[in-house]
Amino acid sequence: MPRPIAATVHIAAMRHNLARARACAPGSKAWAVVKANAYGHGLQRALRGFADADGLALIEFDNAVRLREMGWTKPVLLLEGWFDAADLHAMAAHGLNGAAHCDEQIALLENTPLARPIDVHLKMNTGMNRLGFKPEQFAAAYARLRAIPHVREITLMTHFANADEAAHPCVPIREQLRRFELGAAGLPGPRSLANSAGVFQMPALQGELVSDWIRPGIMLYGGTPGGRSAEEYGLLPAMTLTSELIGIQRIEAGDFVGYGSRFEADRAMRIGVVACGYADGYPRHAPTGTPVLVDGVRTRTVGRVSMDMMAVDLTGIDSARVGSRVVLWGQGLPIDDVAASAGTIGYELMCAVAPRVRILED
Ligand SMILES: *Cc1c(COP(=O)(O)O)cnc(C)c1O
Repeated sequence: MPRPIAATVHIAAMRHNLARARACAPGSKAWAVVKANAYGHGLQRALRGFADADGLALIEFDNAVRLREMGWTKPVLLLEGWFDAADLHAMAAHGLNGAAHCDEQIALLENTPLARPIDVHLKMNTGMNRLGFKPEQFAAAYARLRAIPHVREITLMTHFANADEAAHPCVPIREQLRRFELGAAGLPGPRSLANSAGVFQMPALQGELVSDWIRPGIMLYGGTPGGRSAEEYGLLPAMTLTSELIGIQRIEAGDFVGYGSRFEADRAMRIGVVACGYADGYPRHAPTGTPVLVDGVRTRTVGRVSMDMMAVDLTGIDSARVGSRVVLWGQGLPIDDVAASAGTIGYELMCAVAPRVRILED
């Protein structure tokens, strides 16, 4: 029998969440972002959950080619663009669109004649200060790209740093939009602006945040990008990570649990041992008190998470026995609650689910 831990991917929830994204941006086309193995959900399942998307966006070249091999004929976008000339040839061969964010990439494209023209997303740095051309450099980069015979359509792109907090004190979304309009003034081509947090701002910023393409990621998997909870945003979890109790200990006041003896019982209690540890992708830094469901009842983790196991408090869950179902996150327990307790975000937890965890579907 396999170890009882499994991640169940809910294809219907992925479809529902994509529809939520579209409802926020009725006039826009949607890239479904499937980088990092579709945030841990698997490319094959993403293809089915997001069959209705207008395109799929990711970072990894091998997976971009796999999408074509799996039969995806609509657009594919490489969000960090190309890294060498071989990537450019692959883009031409498979009809992949890629972001250009620096002079070095444009020079490589100038010096690499291609059998077929490619579409390019030209990226502007409007305050994130990660990738992209400054607004004042943007028109020159555009002109240089436009002059390359094997470049077809150019889409204008930027990325928001704080779209989850419209009135951010440092770099508010409106300031990024102002810089974008400044840098893109007079340039033709579609605009691609909004990640999940930006998508949720679109109804409130009607007329200001206009984007031909949106690029939702986390919301499609049922995680919040920040701001409000996933439930308040009307999202459904796309993954439920479950396991079972494989042991039970009765301990007395003064007994300790786990490595480092970090949890000390202050009374007699029952402790459940769950087949899930950091080698499965559960965060080791989740402290005592991180929420978990046992037999559908919300309780807490106790002590340190070890490689293959963790311990949970069974106080008040008299039904719990070896074989009881445990939900680590997903349906009934928002991944964002677990992430918040562990000092991280749902994104990191989804992406970290380890290869040894079986993936099921419903
Ligand atoms: C990952 C990524 C997205 C999706 O971001 P979410 O916060 O997951 O919605 C959008 N655009 C770019 C450029 C990205 O790298």
